[in-house]
Parts: sequence; structure tokens; C-alpha cells
Amino acid sequence: MIGCYLRDLNFEKEIGANGLLLEVGAFRFVVDVGMDPKRVGNSALPQLDLLPKNSVDAILLTHCHLDHVGGLPVLLRQQSQARVFLSYPTSLITPIMLENSYTVMCRQKEEQSIPEYPLYEKKDIERIKQSFLPVKFGQAQHLEKEGCNLDITFYLAGHVLGASSILIEYGGQRIFITGDILFQDQHTLKGANIPSDRYFDTIVLETTRGRTERKSNRANEEERLLKTIAHTIQRGGICLIPAFALGRIQELLVLLYNARRMDKIPECPIFCSGLGMALVNVFNEIGKTTNTVHFSRKILKQLNVKPLRRKKIGPDSQLTTPAIYLLSSGMLVEHTPSYRVASSLIRDCKNTVCFVGYCDPDTPGGQLLQTSPDEVFTFKALEFSTPLRAQVEHFDLSGHADRDDLYQFVVDRQPKQVILTHGDAESRQWFLEKFSKNCPPIRILDPEVGKTYVL
Ligand SMILES: [Zn+2]
Ligand SMILES: [Zn+2]
Repeated sequence: MIGCYLRDLNFEKEIGANGLLLEVGAFRFVVDVGMDPKRVGNSALPQLDLLPKNSVDAILLTHCHLDHVGGLPVLLRQQSQARVFLSYPTSLITPIMLENSYTVMCRQKEEQSIPEYPLYEKKDIERIKQSFLPVKFGQAQHLEKEGCNLDITFYLAGHVLGASSILIEYGGQRIFITGDILFQDQHTLKGANIPSDRYFDTIVLETTRGRTERKSNRANEEERLLKTIAHTIQRGGICLIPAFALGRIQELLVLLYNARRMDKIPECPIFCSGLGMALVNVFNEIGKTTNTVHFSRKILKQLNVKPLRRKKIGPDSQLTTPAIYLLSSGMLVEHTPSYRVASSLIRDCKNTVCFVGYCDPDTPGGQLLQTSPDEVFTFKALEFSTPLRAQVEHFDLSGHADRDDLYQFVVDRQPKQVILTHGDAESRQWFLEKFSKNCPPIRILDPEVGKTYVL
């Protein structure tokens, strides 16, 4: 029997340009093809040149975050015969994410002189849709090639709308890829739904939160966020919530809507950024046709949400106050709406910045979190410095499973082996030590970049 092989196509052991080459029997799959937001140019993509032209049978997409789909148009240019298996919501949202990424690359080309940007053209985004094969959750897809038969099944993975875990069954072997996963329900999404009676030989495990110990549960964190918002509005301040446009913003809108109905936060305008608003429509559409998301755009009206129209907001802008600004990006990346609005509000102690997700320490958001009160903070892209007077808070409302939940998931399934992905070195180390100490029969693999492993 022909075996199964795995190779990590990322440049480093980190969360960045996710991409996994899986050779299963006669099939050659690529699972996810991301773009690393911290790198520029071609080096932001996985090592796609390792794949001979037209050698990939199928691309399996776990979900539409850019660290999983950002390089898809480039890969499909090289592998035009490959079919793309993905969930229906992912098929709708991925083109929107890529269009946004295209716009960002065009801007970066000018500002940072990156000659190879954009890495694809707008017409490529249209073209890739023809390769999409949306699959239903829980329904096995049977594939056959050169007498080799296998089944692929997508399962609901929580995390973000359309997020999937993927099971590949071949010759009695079951390979389960968690993708980015969250077991708990969110306001807008159900948690992961993996049949509890399924056995897996191999689990390819995301490890994002391996170095993060949960200190407070989700409900408590939400209460703390609402109290912080209420205090800020009551003292006449602005509350900026930097959040990912996809998922987080819609989730927070529902949280704010429920809080308003229970009088937990005072009346005030809520401003929301462009991409977040565009995705609200997609959430609404998908909500009408499937039961995978609980969101209706009616709440925008009831909350009186307004789009943030002024493009050139900067340090001297007069913002509406008191108000809530729910804006992307979640990490306050330079030039984004949240970055610009932050530049005009952090010098006033009435205001608050509420981070609600992970912030990479190298991003402006990560740097602001490390800034002490009254210390000077510099908005480099705006050439503006100011002492930090606003309140800065961080709330643990992550879309990724806690490390203990992932550990328990593996213990319950008792696979033969676990392959660690999607986490920095420290996060993988936690899992490596925990499994090695407590589950000695399970083989733990932290794959070296560039090395092929037999499964
Ligand atoms: Zn993700
Ligand atoms: Zn990810």
C-alpha cells in the first residue's frame, strides 16, 4: 500500500503562512495556503515552489482567515487543475477577504516599495471561484484516482463562520485536521461539532493558545468588557474596540445588542468599519440559508450602527463623543481604521481602548498593551507621538480553543500520533511536554520545516 506523508510548507514554526502538503496514497493535497501578515512579498507565502507545477489534486481550506487563504490565487495559478474543497460559508467569504488583501497589497506596494505586490490580480480572484467545490458539514466526499479511494469529511469547527475540521480516511487510516477550532458556542456561532465516537489515528492539532493559561472564563470576560464600556460612556469618553472584521465584529455587535436590551450599556452612537459592515451582509445572507450562524442585520438598525465614513482620520480629528468605535484591525495594524482612531484618542484619560483578541507583540496593538500610563507612544505611520493617558484593557475572548480543551480532546480520542501546527515555539513546547509526560504511547511530532514525515 502507498503510504501517507506530511510536510509543513510554512517558512517557520509559527502562525503565518499556513500550508501543509499531505500525500495520501495517489493523492497530493495542500491543506490551507495562507499569507503571513508579518512578512512581505513572496516570502509571505508558504514554500509553493516545492510543488511541481500541476501536481496538486486538491486544496482543502479549513477557513477564510488570511493566514489560511491569502496565497490561494497564487497557488491556483501554479496548480490550475486543483479543485478546492471548502465549506459553503468559506466559499462566500474567501473572495471578500482576498479582495481586501489585494487592496492592502496595492497600498503597500506604493508605501513600502514592494515590487512583487500585488501577488495576484483582481481577475484571479474571480477565476478561483470556478475551482471551488463547497461541501456540506458531516457528508463524506468520495475521491478516486489510479485505483486509490479515499473519503474527505468536513466538520463544524467553531472559531469563525465556515471554519472546518477535516477528516481524511484512506486504507483504514484516519487523519483528522482540527484547523483553527473552538469547542465553546459563541453568540453568533455554534462550537465545534466533531462526532464523539470517531477514532482518529492521526490528529493534526492547532496549538495557538499553548502558552496562554486561561485566567477567567468567557462570560466573566464579557461582563468585564461591558462594564468597562459603560464606565467609559458614562464619563463622556470614547471606547475603541479594535477587532477582526470577520467574526469578531459581528460577535461583538450581538454582545452589544444583548447588553443594550438589558440596559448594561448606555445609549450612544456605535461606529463600525467598512469591511466589518460588508461582512455583516454575508453573515446575514448565510444566516438565512443555513443554520451555521445566528446573526441578523436587523440588529444594526436597532443598535443605530453607523459606518465610519471619514477616511483620513488622524491625530487631530474631532471624533463623536461619547461613542463606541468597533473597528478593524484587531491588532491596530498601521493605516487601518482602528489605528487611525486610536491616534486621536489615547491622549485623553476619558477614553478607553479595549482589545478583545490576541495581539502579536510586534504589532502597534501589542506595543500599546506594553506601554505604561503616561509613557510616550508613537504612531510611526502617522509620524505622531503622544503620552498614553487613555485606559488600555485586554479581554480574553479568543476564537481559539484553550490549551486544556485541546489537550482533553486528544486524550479522549487516544490517537496514535499528534502533529503540532499553528502555534509559536513556546506554544508547541507546552503541548509537547504535556503529552510526553502524561500520554507516553501517543507519538508527538513537532514537524521541522522542510522535512517530510511518514504518517
Ligand atoms: Zn483563523
Ligand atoms: Zn489561523
